[in-house]
This record gives sequence, structure tokens and C-alpha cells, in this order.
Amino acid sequence: MRQKTARGKYHPAAGSLLNQSQGLLRRFNLQPRKRLGQHFLIDEAVLKTIIEAAELTPTDVIIEIGPGLGILTRQLSQQAGQVIAIELDSQLAAILKRTLAPFSNVVIVNKDVLKTEPATLLKEQAAANSGYKVVANLPYYITSPVLRHFLEAQVKPQIMVVMVQEEVAETIVAAPGQMRLLSVSVQFYGKPRIISQVPAGCFYPMPEVDSALLRIDLYPQPALAVADRDGFFNLVRAGFSASRKQIANSLAQGLGLEKADVLSLLEQADIAQQRRAQTLTLDEWGRLWQVFSRGRDG
Ligand code: SAM
Repeated sequence: MRQKTARGKYHPAAGSLLNQSQGLLRRFNLQPRKRLGQHFLIDEAVLKTIIEAAELTPTDVIIEIGPGLGILTRQLSQQAGQVIAIELDSQLAAILKRTLAPFSNVVIVNKDVLKTEPATLLKEQAAANSGYKVVANLPYYITSPVLRHFLEAQVKPQIMVVMVQEEVAETIVAAPGQMRLLSVSVQFYGKPRIISQVPAGCFYPMPEVDSALLRIDLYPQPALAVADRDGFFNLVRAGFSASRKQIANSLAQGLGLEKADVLSLLEQADIAQQRRAQTLTLDEWGRLWQVFSRGRDG
């Protein structure tokens, strides 16, 4: 595991990428826009870790979210077949179109990733039909919506290799006992794991929190066979609505049901009423959903 650097200092491996990033910002007279989560990666070793984690092959199609100054994009371009990089910042997108012009397998799309349907994007860019990977140093202010956007997309990625806040990564990979709504939401679609911890000093300007590189391997089918996903996640959300309460109380409150009815559902699903939402396994949520939806629809 990598050593954490003391806050307020850049990582020792940050030298040349820091110079490169600061040089680009000066050359184009730009200030990093914190509102857009612009913290540029300046650590060579972390860059290498991201590329290795993505297990790139020459036939891979990559969707990169937020290429920024294009440091990661260049590396992706060298090892993947095609890179579709979506950047919201029009100034950065215009600069990338110029600076990355020699990279013929890269296309810069100046759009909001959350307003861009992956299937449409792939079609517009005439990407091969054999799947795609998401690789990104994410803008942290939209981490959960971005994950949801791709995990729930009609055409899902094979894997996602994404830099997120360390605390968020830990929530996503949490085991029963520590689970949150976000853990269930991600683990429903795939197997997440933390590849490495990444200190704040690996970015410029330095964020206030440490980060972690996360890889999610999506399942061919979600972990639970649930036809009505909105209904399922409404149930899970209700369970976590007062997560310090016992599940019987949080469900009664979150779903607006009589406590006696909730107790009966829990009994049928073989889940003790004193349990708390964070202790339930995915299978137990699945059982609870079966009982709940049978009662609701029947
Ligand atoms: N990939 C670069 C790197 O690693 O140095 C920059 C990463 S920076 C953390 C996040 C990038 O996402 C910024 O370039 C920012 O402008 C862009 N961004 C923010 N919101 C976005 C959105 N909704 N859609 C697409 N890009 C976005």
C-alpha cells in the first residue's frame, strides 16, 4: 500500500506532471474551476495504477468522464482502441480538441456526462458493439449520480475504474454491518473493490480529502432478479431512511405502513425485527422484496 503524504504537501512523484499541468494552465490562461471538481492528477505512479487496473487492450472502447487537461486521456489513447472523452467545461474541451488532435483514436465530446446516454454516445461515435469500459478521475460533486447513470444505463460498461473520495469508496465496498444505500446500489450491479488509496497530494490543486481508486466489475445480470427496480430501491431507501433505527421502525416510517404489517413482512422474509438496515445482506434485501412485492401486487 502506498504511504500517505502529509497534508499540505504534494506527493514526491508529482514533479513532472505538476509542471506539465501548471504549464498548460498558464499557456491557456486558465484557473482550475473547483465548482466543476477540477483537481488534476499529477502523480505518475497513480496514472500507471489506473491504466493497469483498466486492463486495456487495443480493441477496448473507453468512455472517459472529465478528461480535464488530458493527462489520463493520452495514456488511454496509447493502449486502447478508441477513447470517447466527455468534458463539460467548454474552454477545456476546446483546448483538448487542439492539444489531442494528433491522437487519432480520441474524440472529445463537450457535454454533461449526466445528460449523455451511453448507448447514444457509442452510436454517435460509431464505437464497436462489443462493450466498453469507463475510466475516470471523477468530479467528486457528482460521484453517486455518475455511478448510477452508468450502472443503470441501457447499455452498461463491462468495468468502471474510477477515482472517488476514499470515504465513498469504503462505503461502496462495505460488507453487511457497514452497508449503506450506496453499497446496495452498487453491489446490486457489480463487484466493487478498492485498488489503492490515493493521497490528496497526488492532485493539483489539492482536494481537502484523500481519494481511492475503485474498480467495479459489472455482472452480466444484476445480483438479484428484480423486475421492478424502482420499487426495489424504494424499499431499500425506506430501510435506510432512519438507519440507526431498527429495520421494522425505519420501514414502517419510510413506507408509511403499520408497524404490525412490517413485522409480518419481516417474519415471512426470516429477518429479525431488531436488525438495522446496514446489517442486511443483498440476499436478505432480495427476500424482503419478494415478500413485500407479493403483498403489494397480490
Ligand atoms: N481527468 C483529469 C485528470 O485526471 O487530471 C481531470 C479530472 S477532474 C477531477 C474532473 C473533470 O471532470 C474536470 O475536467 C471537470 O471539468 C469535468 N467535469 C465536471 N463535471 C462534469 C460533467 N457533468 N460532465 C463531464 N465532465 C465534467
